[in-house]
Amino acid sequence: MITQIHILTTYMCTMSCEHCFVCSSPYSQGTFTPSQISALLDQTDDLGTVKRIYFEGGEPFLFYPVMLNGIRQARSRGYSVGIVTNGYFATSEENARCILEPFPGIGLADLSISDDVFHYENREENAARRAFRAAQEMGLPAAILALDPGASGPEMRGSPREEKKGVITGGGIMFRGRAAAKLSPYADASDWQTFTTCPYEDLQEPSRLHVDAFGNLQVCQGICIGNIWEHPLKELVRDYVPSRHPICGPLLSGGPAQLARDLGYTPPPTVADACHLCYLARKSCREKFPGILQPAQVYCDE
Ligand code: SF4
Repeated sequence: MITQIHILTTYMCTMSCEHCFVCSSPYSQGTFTPSQISALLDQTDDLGTVKRIYFEGGEPFLFYPVMLNGIRQARSRGYSVGIVTNGYFATSEENARCILEPFPGIGLADLSISDDVFHYENREENAARRAFRAAQEMGLPAAILALDPGASGPEMRGSPREEKKGVITGGGIMFRGRAAAKLSPYADASDWQTFTTCPYEDLQEPSRLHVDAFGNLQVCQGICIGNIWEHPLKELVRDYVPSRHPICGPLLSGGPAQLARDLGYTPPPTVADACHLCYLARKSCREKFPGILQPAQVYCDE
């Protein structure tokens, strides 16, 4: 049952992190409008099972009035709301309090702030930490989103290069999107045939879906089960038969290794993780699955 919808408010971001799943950058295209959010919420109302709406990206605070409008719409319809941000706006705690000022009144269920060595090489002080402190002072349900529990704590020391290496080789990264190209060469690689399950997403009975401004309804980033601007969300969810989906079917029967075989993709002898193999196999044949292996942004093909 779908209980969460993650709105990819924009693919645009202030940063171009090496580990970004969706290849976001300051130049990325694809941003919701308030009326598109309203149309999406009409569809989630109709589906009837959604409890929480997340506003994420990219960096949703880049389009602050749009995000705020969307959050107000979602709250007025009774949804619990979360935000995922890198906290870039916290140039000072005072400025962070100004930006966050509406949220105690609106009511947020979660404010997740990314703070890791890929977002911020300064591990002593950075915008994410200022945003977190300001949010905590204001009584907002803030949480630090880190790749590795150690990466956000003051006990983590060493050069940014060492920390990044530790996260890459320690399994803190999933090698999809930009991470597949930028970071996989530094990972401890394994025989591709050993990746026989999808370790992170419940493709059989998903409880959350991601949707972007183009309408792409994604069961994992870059794997679509339809387009909400072409068919209603309710129909797409009803008609999703995992075993018959050309990408999810093989992933369910034998993981990324089976997907590579079914797609006729010949992987390199070793890959960084299951997501790396899955991503490489999908990227190799995007044009054969129009409407499914979308959007270009997620494949760094924009
Ligand atoms: S293996 Fe593929 S479907 Fe599963 S989480 Fe990784 S990228 Fe997503």
